[in-house]
Amino acid sequence: MHEASLANSIVQVVLRHADRAGADMVRSVTVELGEWTTFNPEQVGFWVKIGFEKTVAAGARVYFKKVSGSIRCGSCGYEGKCPEPAGETGSWIGPVLSCPNCGHTEVEIVHGREAVVRKITVDR
Ligand SMILES: [Zn+2]
Repeated sequence: MHEASLANSIVQVVLRHADRAGADMVRSVTVELGEWTTFNPEQVGFWVKIGFEKTVAAGARVYFKKVSGSIRCGSCGYEGKCPEPAGETGSWIGPVLSCPNCGHTEVEIVHGREAVVRKITVDR
């Protein structure tokens, strides 16, 4: 149930923001999902909508934007896209990534693991 707990934190972020902004109504929410996350956007959206019920965000549209993955290599300094990672892509821990330039596995993920609320549109 990773989707439900992610949805719950999205709902918290949105409602806090709406409250701070003095919003009467939340129109839409854009969530960025990294390509190396294992979240199913449809399920996340489903849970978010349930969380929004009876709040100022009830009926808000939820959009998902896919963020492509990129890495920074700790060995050669390569920065950029990483080809289809080897290993189990369905696991929670995620795939093992290696540098396409030198093959090193000590790579830092710059993008691809995020699941963040990027944009919230409200009415006041
Ligand atoms: Zn490298």
